[in-house]
Amino acid sequence: MFKPHETPMSNTLPLIHLSPNDVVRLVHRIGLPQCIAGVAERIEQDFLRWSEFDKSARVASHSPDGVVELMPIADATQFAFKYVNGHPKNTTLGLPTVMAFGVLADVATGAPIMLSELTLTTAIRTAAMSSLAARTLARPGCRTMALIGNGAQSEFQAMAFRHLLNIQSIRLYDVDKAATNKLLSNLEGFGLDLVVCNSAAEAALGADIITTVTADKTNATIISPEMVTPGVHINAVGGDCPGKTELHRGVLEMGKVFVEYEPQSRIEGDIQQMAADFPVTELWRVLTGHVPARHSASQITIFDSVGFALEDYSALTFLYEKARSYGFGRDLALIPALNDPKNLFGALELASIAPEPSLVD
Ligand code: NAD
Repeated sequence: MFKPHETPMSNTLPLIHLSPNDVVRLVHRIGLPQCIAGVAERIEQDFLRWSEFDKSARVASHSPDGVVELMPIADATQFAFKYVNGHPKNTTLGLPTVMAFGVLADVATGAPIMLSELTLTTAIRTAAMSSLAARTLARPGCRTMALIGNGAQSEFQAMAFRHLLNIQSIRLYDVDKAATNKLLSNLEGFGLDLVVCNSAAEAALGADIITTVTADKTNATIISPEMVTPGVHINAVGGDCPGKTELHRGVLEMGKVFVEYEPQSRIEGDIQQMAADFPVTELWRVLTGHVPARHSASQITIFDSVGFALEDYSALTFLYEKARSYGFGRDLALIPALNDPKNLFGALELASIAPEPSLVD
């Protein structure tokens, strides 16, 4: 049987591989709320030094049923990228809608230092980002949230809002009742009052915060203007691709719209429906105190989230530090280490290969 990580190769550069199992162990060691809070804090710190990052909109390869994206970013010391897909029909094939992995590298040499799973981690960082935005933008004292779309991301969103905003009651709706039942079962005993609703409109009734985290490759209308009451904060997570939106354009006109990185959000966010000069505010400007969050308790705030590379940079650096301090992860043989770095040809010699685990027992 193939045993991939049992013997570190001595003739490769040191590189940590964090598998999904490692991230599960890490979450159990630290606690999920603490992980979400830790990543949220890291994202906030990184957003506060926004100008230090070399930023770009992600590169997307679209196909009829989905998208595959690469998300690079760097500061002066570390470079990160994430590979991520979005295929809403995947769940009918037994695959997740969103799958991801990422790399952290040293800018000074370009050497990769960690290759990590990012499917679980994307759910954690997205929940961290949503709750950070809501903590910044929503009016104080919010206790009830509508959670529309009860798929893979949903429990992470619920946990984040429970622990970072003290949300007590969540009003659930999904077109797929099995998804809602899965959430009910997963979050039993977590101290949340979970209310199942028969429509998105019913879920939005009386909610202080409305989170939409649906997956459908279409311009959907999950939230329309008559569902939005004064003072509501909308956390729109699922509209994150050209031709894939959740909010009626009238909803965007009702409030103040905040985004992560404007050049990317104009292409991918719900604001893709609006004119190019439709006013939006990048969240880092609020976090740094350049722009106020909301002007009154009755104002409607909308976080038009698409997921930005900096959030994954924050999550990867968080994981790297925790993995090192708790000893999680394995060596991964990926880049050859050369005695003479100019003699790559010499590395082809069979004699230069360190003993490796056998492919068969
Ligand atoms: P998922 O497929 O596991 O779950 C999506 C759920 O939405 C499903 O249960 C589906 O039945 C439900 N749904 C679809 N149409 C609906 C409708 N009209 N009304 C109510 N429910 C509906 O997907 P997931 O991994 O939970 O991701 C959800 C969305 O979030 C995706 O669109 C994904 O691309 C997006 N996403 C965004 C970010 C970000 O940073 N903004 C990060 C991760 C995922």
